[in-house]
Amino acid sequence: MKRYEKFPIRLTNSLSSKKEEFKPIHEGRVGIYVCGPTVYSDVHLGNVRTFLCFDVIQRYFKYLEYKVRYVRNITDVGHLEGDADEGEDKISKKARLEQLEPMEIVQRYTNDFHRVSEVFNILPPDIEPTATGHLIEQIRHIEALLEKGLAYEVNRSVYFDVKKYNEHQQYGKLSGRNIDELRDSGRSLDSQDEKRDKIDFALWKKASPKHIMRWDSPWGKGFPGWHLECTVMSTKYLGETFDIHGGGIDLKFPHHECEIAQQAGITGTDPVNYWLHSNMLTVNGQKMSKSLGNSFLPNELFSGKHELLEKGYSPMTVRFFMLQSHYSSTLDFSNDALMAAEKGYKRLMSGLKNAESLEAPDGNDKESGQTMLQLADQCFLEMSDDFNTAKTLAVLFEMTTRINDLMTKPDELSKIPADAWKYFVGTYSEFIQEVLGLKKETAEDDKMLEGIVNLLIKLRSEAKISRDFAKSDMIRDELGKMGVRLMDGKDGTTFSID
Ligand code: AMP
Ligand code: ZN
Repeated sequence: MKRYEKFPIRLTNSLSSKKEEFKPIHEGRVGIYVCGPTVYSDVHLGNVRTFLCFDVIQRYFKYLEYKVRYVRNITDVGHLEGDADEGEDKISKKARLEQLEPMEIVQRYTNDFHRVSEVFNILPPDIEPTATGHLIEQIRHIEALLEKGLAYEVNRSVYFDVKKYNEHQQYGKLSGRNIDELRDSGRSLDSQDEKRDKIDFALWKKASPKHIMRWDSPWGKGFPGWHLECTVMSTKYLGETFDIHGGGIDLKFPHHECEIAQQAGITGTDPVNYWLHSNMLTVNGQKMSKSLGNSFLPNELFSGKHELLEKGYSPMTVRFFMLQSHYSSTLDFSNDALMAAEKGYKRLMSGLKNAESLEAPDGNDKESGQTMLQLADQCFLEMSDDFNTAKTLAVLFEMTTRINDLMTKPDELSKIPADAWKYFVGTYSEFIQEVLGLKKETAEDDKMLEGIVNLLIKLRSEAKISRDFAKSDMIRDELGKMGVRLMDGKDGTTFSID
């Protein structure tokens, strides 16, 4: 029996706004597409949150023994300033300002994105396609839409005809909007004269003479609209209909709505079975964004050189901080929250170390075995319930308390049956490291802390030998006040950080 049969996943589908049981198109396989970054600037922590959420989701599918194909693209053309159909391409603007080739900008920030992902232990996707690498497919797709009468050419640009599409399909089904409302609320844009309707969107744009990113097409020199790349690349690698499409909630409209229309316009069916949207990282309640000037770069966080921070925090502390909230809730960034996360992360890591140090028991107390099995199963149940990392962490803390207790209770430990212990410790360690992706950090200060506490443990045992109990108690109590708990076991004293 595969793990996914024992612990079926339920997830909140943005398309229905309901929690649904996940049923893959092909038994035992999952196709996931996530909108990747536009590589024109350093990745900020808001971006990191989105990619981290989907990293955990795809890790969990793999852990449940699904065969996963995880596709996350790189947007290297077509994303215009203001996220609409007008303005300069974000990448070409940066290239112009820095007097570099657009592809130098793309390479620089793709490298930066990969480096940041690695630091946060965000695994690389199975396929990482680029928009510029799929121009032929995008042109073919536009031709197909023109043939269907769902697109029209004006002045060497091509637009998607939303009204026409809406005769047979429902534009707005994902974001819950209807086209009349959209028409009323839509901005008036420069190129609006060109469009038949202001709710239409660009599939191909004619390049103005100063636009440096341009390609030949049947409509002359130009570049693709931003939404098209994701339609083309997701279906190329995952099929005309695939299992899961994810992205930040800010992409739901218009980006994802347009993706659906571009594909359903051709095939007549929804391209995606489950839409997942992760929520925003905020600062004082406001979305973290480069344009608002409230974004944090990973380096500012590690060094602590930022006015909102009292000190630096390690990558795994930040990862832990992000896992403490559900992916669909907003998460507010603050120094206090990071301090608390640092404590939590350390406690979990010291639990892991303790678990590894305990000798596996071989007892026959069924009841204690049962409790261990139930706790371990609870990790699966929480993660299978819409990837609830917050509740999973709560279970892992319960397991940590149990492990720390057993450190000082060898009699209790010895009663636990071998297979229950193996499942308990294996699940504990794998959920921390493989599913949640929390790595052990061998930071210098951690090593130093360990050295100092071990030295104090030695002094305490010497005090005990010379019957100086006042001193030995003082060492234990003072460490306790600092959150360092000493545990006397049959093989000496160990410590954990509460
Ligand atoms: P971009 O590079 O602007 O296309 O954004 C890359 C990804 O980061 C998108 O999926 C956005 O939804 C996501 N994103 C941007 N800002 C935030 C934020 N403050 N919190 C979470 N995700 C964000
Ligand atoms: Zn996309």
